[in-house]
Amino acid sequence: MKTQLFTLSDRSTDEVITLALSGLCLSGLLLFSVIRLARGDFGIALVDAAGFVGCLWIFWHVVTTRRVFVAGILLSVLALMGTLAVIFISGSAERYLIFPTAMAAYFLLSPRLALLLTTIAVSALTLILMTSMPWFELAKFLLSIIGCLSFTYIFASERNHQRDELLKLSTKDTLTGAGNRRAMDVHLDELVKIHLRNPAPMSMLMLDLDKFKRINDKFGHAAGDTVLQQVVQTISNRLRAGDHLFRYGGDEFVILAPGLDSTSSLGLAEDLRNKIGSLRFDFDSRLRITASFGVAQYGSDQSVAEWLKQSDEALFASKKAGRNKSHAS
Ligand code: GH3
Ligand code: MG
Repeated sequence: MKTQLFTLSDRSTDEVITLALSGLCLSGLLLFSVIRLARGDFGIALVDAAGFVGCLWIFWHVVTTRRVFVAGILLSVLALMGTLAVIFISGSAERYLIFPTAMAAYFLLSPRLALLLTTIAVSALTLILMTSMPWFELAKFLLSIIGCLSFTYIFASERNHQRDELLKLSTKDTLTGAGNRRAMDVHLDELVKIHLRNPAPMSMLMLDLDKFKRINDKFGHAAGDTVLQQVVQTISNRLRAGDHLFRYGGDEFVILAPGLDSTSSLGLAEDLRNKIGSLRFDFDSRLRITASFGVAQYGSDQSVAEWLKQSDEALFASKKAGRNKSHAS
C-alpha cells in the first residue's frame, strides 16, 4: 500500500501535535534567524539556524515514520535548550520565551517526563538569571513559571487519565474485560490491512458456551456473569501476546490469532475447550461447562464479513455435531 506522506486525516492526535509544533518552530526560527542576521546578532542567528535544522529533521522523521516518542523528546529538548541559549546570549529581557517552550513539552511528552525536563530547564534558567536580575524580580518570575507549569502538569495528568478511561470504556466489554464489538471491528480491519502488505497466515476462533441459558435459569444471572468472567480469564491466560479476545455478543467470543494457520488454531481451540471444561465454580462445585468452537483461517482477498461468516459456519457445525467440539472450515 502506498503511504500518503502529507495527509493529516489518518494521523494520530500525537502526530498532528508534533507536526504542528515542529512546523510552527520551523517558520518562527526561519523568520527570527533572518531578523537576527539583518540586525547583526550573529550568535543568536546561529542558535536559531541550528534549531531550524533540528526541527526540519523532527518534522521529516514524523512525516515518514509516524513515530512521535523520540521526536517529542528531541523537539522539547531542542526548544528548551534553544530558549536557554537565547536568554543566556541576549539577557534577562528574553526570559518570557521560556513560558511557551516549557508548556509545549506537556503537549509532546508524558506529564512526568515533561515535569523532569522543565524542572531541569527552570533550574538552569535560575542559574543564568541569578547574576543579572534583582532577587525580588527573579523570585516573582520564578513563582509565575513554577505556578504555570504546576497547573499545566495537573491538567496534562488529568487529561491523560480521562483519555485512558475513555479508551477503556469505548473498547472493552464492561462485564468481562474482553475487547468489545467495536474494538473487534477496528482490529479486524487492521489485520486485513497488515495481511495485504505481509500475507502471513492468521486465524479466527469463534466460540459459544453450550446451553448457557440453563445456567442463568438454574443459578441466576449473577452466577451466569461469574461464568462469563472466569471463561474470559481462562482464555486470556492461555493466549499469546499478539492474540486478541473479543466478546462478540452474549455468550459468544472471538479470538483473533495472527500467525496461526487452521491446523494450529484448531489445536488452540482444543486446548481452550479442555481448559473451559475443567473450570470449577464457587457457587456450585459440581457445575461443569462446555463450549463449541469454529475456526477459520483468513483466505486472501476475503472480506471481514466473509471471514466472520466462515467461522460462524464452523461453529454451527460444532453445535450441530452435538456441542463441546471444535471444527475448522
Ligand atoms: P447453545 O448451546 O445453543 O449456545 O445454547 P445457549 O443456551 O447457550 O443459547 P444461546 O447461546 O443462544 O444463549 C445465550 C444466553 O446467554 C442467553 C442469555 O440469557 C445469556 N446472556 C447473554 N448475555 C449475558 C450476560 O451478560 N450475562 C448473563 N448472565 N447471561 C447472558
Ligand atoms: Mg450459547
